[in-house]
Amino acid sequence: MQAHRGSGDELRSEHTLTGEPIGSGYAIGPAFVVSEDATGEPALRISQLSAEEERSRFNEAVARSIKQLKKLQNRIAHLPDESQVEIGPLLEVYQRMLGPSRLQKGVLERVDAGLTAEMAVQETTEELAELMLGTLDGKEPGSEDAAAAERRAGEFREIGRRLIRNLRKESFLSLASLPAGAVLVADTLRPADAALIDPAHVVAVVTEDGGSTGHTAIMLRALGIPAVLAVSGLMDQVRNGTTVIVDGYGGTITVNPSQRALRQARRHVEAYAQERQELSRMRRRASRLTSGEKISLQANLELPAELPLIAQSGAAGIGLLRTEFLFINADMLPDETAQYDIYSSIVSTMGSDSTTIRVLDWGGEKQGDALTRAGIISRDTVNPALGRRGIRLLLEHPELLETQFAAILHAAAKGPVRVLLPMVTVASEIIAARDIYERVARRLKRKGVDIGDTLPPLGIMVETPAAALTAGVLAQYADFLAIGSNDLTMYTLAADRAASEVADLYDPLHPAVLRMIAEIISASLLERCPVSICGEIAGNPRFTPLLIGLGCRSFSMSASSVPRVKQIVRGTNYTACKQLARQVLAATDPKEIRRLLDTFQHDMSG
Ligand code: PEP
Ligand code: MG
Repeated sequence: MQAHRGSGDELRSEHTLTGEPIGSGYAIGPAFVVSEDATGEPALRISQLSAEEERSRFNEAVARSIKQLKKLQNRIAHLPDESQVEIGPLLEVYQRMLGPSRLQKGVLERVDAGLTAEMAVQETTEELAELMLGTLDGKEPGSEDAAAAERRAGEFREIGRRLIRNLRKESFLSLASLPAGAVLVADTLRPADAALIDPAHVVAVVTEDGGSTGHTAIMLRALGIPAVLAVSGLMDQVRNGTTVIVDGYGGTITVNPSQRALRQARRHVEAYAQERQELSRMRRRASRLTSGEKISLQANLELPAELPLIAQSGAAGIGLLRTEFLFINADMLPDETAQYDIYSSIVSTMGSDSTTIRVLDWGGEKQGDALTRAGIISRDTVNPALGRRGIRLLLEHPELLETQFAAILHAAAKGPVRVLLPMVTVASEIIAARDIYERVARRLKRKGVDIGDTLPPLGIMVETPAAALTAGVLAQYADFLAIGSNDLTMYTLAADRAASEVADLYDPLHPAVLRMIAEIISASLLERCPVSICGEIAGNPRFTPLLIGLGCRSFSMSASSVPRVKQIVRGTNYTACKQLARQVLAATDPKEIRRLLDTFQHDMSG
């Protein structure tokens, strides 16, 4: 990379560019434009050296690359925990690629066939990247699987660029030398370079390449740096030293801002800085309404890597541990020991805070390799969201449920645990699952496994209209209820939660959805059955007063949402929430409901 100067008179007037917002707020600063010289096609295809000599050049470049990656690994120790969690595994992936791997084999074969090491690296890494992208076929665009395949392809290309630079002995720019207060403007930014940005130094990052699900985006988010990626035309339109305003929420950058735009942006920057400071203070504060009622705020966990974030968020335990991560992308079904190892380490990490572990919720839009390979699910189901998913699948394959129950019951010796059944529609499913649960417990006891005398509570997700409308009956069989508003909204409104063409119809503020939520909460209170909510609306501060007004006292959400929701909790009182809930339940139009919530929020902040 090297410093780069844009040109052209049109660049002197204010203009706005747009890209993918990466969140984390606003920033103003002088652009520091860096452009990576295209590594370009290696000059020579056929080597003039012997294969032996090319092999030794390649081995040297591998050794140098590994040394650089190890150095990076040592330097990430100063980063916040959540950034280390993102960056550490990536650096390990790069180092693994440089070990005995398909990459190394491919390069050496090409070198033996007479290619230069540069050309052999270029062709092999491109072939592997293409192979990854080929696996995109059949994956839902924008899905996690598709994003993972794209990231993997990017990793191969990235390691190829590093090797070629090292073969040519080209230097890498150290981002540590960026001037304080600068906005880093780059055509492309490697995740490993993003990892080295000091957030106290660089106020924002804007790149021409990239996307919101790539590793670079994940890292910038973890570092809390305002960023906009995939800004088309960026490198032609921004000069070194030009003042830019970066809006990481809206995905815009304003180049050469007017005095008026600057004044407004400064207000945003100040408000954002203040908000961050206040939110970080929330961690240790009690989660209570001004009228004194305690509101439990827990975290959802999808990957063990999120654990440090949970600790930092101040969440009071895990309200929903989605165990699908154990099965996604797995070649084989995880056995009892593999599951026990993971559950027990999570439960131990949570100490005295409880962990609610949901058994496998497979089917619907959640598809994956291990179960398909084991012949348990088929890709041909006509309408998977209405098919054999969640508890239905588990009861048809009790061996899956038995293994999972055994691992969870065993792990429960390490700390407080609750067990959650997904997609329940009828009481007989709870009865059947409980039979298996108790049978597994007896077997473990016979084997001498310490599982205590009282089994962890066995609860259910209420996420279908059937379960919502019979919540009172189900509450007599379940030890607790967890409202899954994501699926409840989808099934109530017949609008797929993952389909962009019906995104405008998928509205949790539809009166039908809210009435069901109200119904579930009242039924559970009547039956004295604990109830919580763990769909996305639980972490949306706009919904917080309404859900409290409907009687909900327990929420589980993504860890990053906990401080903001706690701030709302601490600023409101129960009577006002109750009144809001009454008004909302009387409204029939989602727009009117939205207006009521916005007015409430506005009055609160005023
Ligand atoms: C829900 O449906 O609201 C829920 C929490 O479950 P998931 O999002 O895992 O389907
Ligand atoms: Mg669900």
